Amino acid sequence: MSPEIYLDSNATNPVLPQAAAAAMQAMTQDHGNPSSTHIAGLRAKALLASVRERATRVLGVGDGRLMFNSGATEGIHTAVLSALVALRERRAAGQAIGRWLLYGATEHKAVPESLMHWNRLLGLDLEILALQVDRDGRHDLARLHELAPQTALLCTMAANNETGVVSDLAGIERELVATGSAALWLVDGVQALGKLALNLAATRIDYAPFSGHKLYAPKGIGMLYVRAGAPFTPLMVGGGQEAGARSGTENMAGIAALGAVLTALEDGQTFRSMRELEVFRDRLAECLRTAFPGLHFNAPFDKALPTTLNFSVPGWDSGALLNLFDAAGLRVSAGSACSSEKGAPSHVLQAMHLPRWCSGSAIRLSFGPLVEPHVIDAACEAIARCAQVLRTTGRRSADNSQERSANFVEHAPSQDHAIADAESLQSFLMQHPNAVLVDVREPYEHAAAGGFAVEHATAINVPMASLATHVDRWLQSRAPLVFVCKSGRRAAQAAARMRGLNHAQAWHLSGGVAVLPQP
Ligand code: PLP
Repeated sequence: MSPEIYLDSNATNPVLPQAAAAAMQAMTQDHGNPSSTHIAGLRAKALLASVRERATRVLGVGDGRLMFNSGATEGIHTAVLSALVALRERRAAGQAIGRWLLYGATEHKAVPESLMHWNRLLGLDLEILALQVDRDGRHDLARLHELAPQTALLCTMAANNETGVVSDLAGIERELVATGSAALWLVDGVQALGKLALNLAATRIDYAPFSGHKLYAPKGIGMLYVRAGAPFTPLMVGGGQEAGARSGTENMAGIAALGAVLTALEDGQTFRSMRELEVFRDRLAECLRTAFPGLHFNAPFDKALPTTLNFSVPGWDSGALLNLFDAAGLRVSAGSACSSEKGAPSHVLQAMHLPRWCSGSAIRLSFGPLVEPHVIDAACEAIARCAQVLRTTGRRSADNSQERSANFVEHAPSQDHAIADAESLQSFLMQHPNAVLVDVREPYEHAAAGGFAVEHATAINVPMASLATHVDRWLQSRAPLVFVCKSGRRAAQAAARMRGLNHAQAWHLSGGVAVLPQP
């Protein structure tokens, strides 16, 4: 298997070594509860205060509130709940509150979902409306101008997680001011942290959620900025931590780690500048263009963070491209990690009115400000290797017609016939020495990845499109079959099809090749 080149920073990142050390220190040495009044507790309380002070500086919180929580999803919910409770109270007091809960059409799903959730639970019945974006992914400010006077809450992100497109927050603020809008304003700052200068208190923004893991802190720690005077309702009450704004014992390991990341951000040395990152982006772009003639970049570089490249390759759907890149060791994604399981075309690219082939074949490659030049070198080599593989295996497009013509009946995959991990596979193969391991990955994935190591068995490569040509032989031999692919999905389908043809002994490795030992 190829060495791993991680270029999916917009999904998450490894933890900065200083941050991991700070978390370890908080877990093993300075493990006090900041609410305890003894010295161990006081030490934890001092750490909490110092990280808050640092975050207050980095984000320009001014006289606003900066609270720690579990991440941006919680921050978005807290902000939406706070705004909607205030709107309900204003309405009950006979005040006009406007008509719209307006959100940018390219927001992370946490925003519209949260709006729908709390609008329904609080019985507000406001109208939830998407503010459209243009072809470049920027909000339609003329439309905002029309809607702002009747907008109760506006939600816009600072930078988009799929395309890196940076919102014109100053332009949005101008519209709110020019129209005298009373709208509360939530800005999702997740992808901006560490990449864009933030001075929140100098803006009209009321709420700004952040997630630590997008900038090398661990998962499960986040921050929420609340402007001084903005309405606030806690999502959770209990022990009164965070001055009653967010109860529950603080995640001190996460806070300590986030503190180390913010220290690195403030020192101006640890993270690369945007200029350096632009050079990396340009190199990757050049190498992608050379490898895949006709490749299309889905967002304009001059309006996007240099750390995100979103592109489409004609004739290839996202799934097939991802499999190819993954086989070559390149960990990229087809869009937001939260939505990738659903496999639907990106709502972000659809909102930008990109042609269907672009939204259906989009790949997001993203890196963070800690990226090393050798990772970019390795990525360029892997991309070139992928192109070479395509030339030599001759497969030019994602064409499933052969697979369809195999005329199998679809059967639901069964968990009863799933083999979860390498250990279970080994014991299955010991018990079934005549079993055949069938790797259903495409030849180009093979060529990019090489094989995998399994004792007591050799795998044969039969891509999905060629299964039909092997069926008679398998039905005659009745040997147990274990299907294998990258993620387990195609293998599950292949096994279900064989069972549908009365070959009861058809299994699949549900964790995919990722759970096998690397040779
Ligand atoms: N907002 C944006 C722009 C994001 O990219 C993400 C995560 O992908 C979130 C919100 C949600 O963050 P979390 O899953 O850490 O709560």
